[in-house]
Amino acid sequence: MTSAEIIALADRYLCPTYARAPLALVRGQGTRVWDADDKIYLDFFSSTVVTNLGHQHPAIVRAIETQAHQILHVSNLHYCEPQARLAEKLVQSSFADRVFLCNSGAEANEAAIKLARKYGHAQGGGRYEVITAYNSFHGRTLATIAATGQEKVRVGFEPVQQGFRYAAYDDVDAVEQAISPRTIAVLVEPLQGEGGIVGPAPEYFQALRGLCDRHDLLLMFDEIQTGMGRCGTLFAYEQLGVAPDVMTLAKGLGAGVPIGAMLAAAPLASVLDKGSHGSTFGGNALTCAVGLAVMEVLQGEGVLANCVAMGERLSAGLRALATKHPLIKAVRGRGLLIGVELTQPGGPVVDRCLAAGLIINCTANTVLRLTPPLTVSAAEVDEALAILDKALT
Ligand code: PLP
Repeated sequence: MTSAEIIALADRYLCPTYARAPLALVRGQGTRVWDADDKIYLDFFSSTVVTNLGHQHPAIVRAIETQAHQILHVSNLHYCEPQARLAEKLVQSSFADRVFLCNSGAEANEAAIKLARKYGHAQGGGRYEVITAYNSFHGRTLATIAATGQEKVRVGFEPVQQGFRYAAYDDVDAVEQAISPRTIAVLVEPLQGEGGIVGPAPEYFQALRGLCDRHDLLLMFDEIQTGMGRCGTLFAYEQLGVAPDVMTLAKGLGAGVPIGAMLAAAPLASVLDKGSHGSTFGGNALTCAVGLAVMEVLQGEGVLANCVAMGERLSAGLRALATKHPLIKAVRGRGLLIGVELTQPGGPVVDRCLAAGLIINCTANTVLRLTPPLTVSAAEVDEALAILDKALT
């Protein structure tokens, strides 16, 4: 099928939930992707910050092939080795003691919210409220749109799930003021991705940790976008000098297969006990085999060092562009999660980049989001900068 045919078919039969660009992809290799008309693009979006290892990474292809020849799915009423080994790997690589596996970011956050509530109820005193940040993004299910600190995601879906309060991001006093006798947890992103690549200084998180400890609240980090090497360390919290009690992951954990995870430290780790939560597909044999391969690549092949080096190269190049393009207001981010704030909406720049063969994204209306694979090369970074230079003119 041609791109036009695929687009027409999709627009006819799919619910019109997404503002899609007219791009139908059929193949990817490393940082490059091909559309159905065989036009080639540089993928500096990693398909919504998911394909952190690029397309067709040999270790991922191998893991999928090997697992497909063994068993794809094992019921969660039974055991399978990839699931056990991925959980072990996640625990051994983080602050956590146990893992709940699911299929998406929103589901991982649902698990975190349920854990917080169950913990609150188990303690007595009826604490169930979760404080989140304005401008945050935590997913599209009913509970996670309530957790998301942006009114626009809730419009039309009222009544909104109760039990959430919001506080300004990067403002510990605001969180303190939002605490009520019913508060049990604080859920924040180490860096707001959808909110415009906004990252507070580590002091904010250290103060937040202290506040949570003083008020006996759980500190929960949504690392669905920032985790899995995206910010230059396996998890972004490693750069903040604090560890959370709960962390959620998805996106890059599966390198393109759908998997999410909720990690919890003892003594919370066993709060979601038998029968209290579950998922048919959660952590199945295929997705866990891939998740394990992702972890092994991230920990073993210099990918994190490349992320840091290429993040610096891309940021430096963008700062140089800022000196000649008054359209650029700010360049910010960590590792290869980079935002370029413009003085006007970014949509037209994204469109011009696409026409010139570079896929990027715009979030929070005016912020170009650049998130190439962590395996991106220096030549590809330079090529993207050259396209951006023209697109900004
Ligand atoms: N949390 C954050 C920080 C995200 O960036 C996203 C997705 O963009 C989600 C949660 C929701 O993840 P999913 O779309 O996999 O449900």
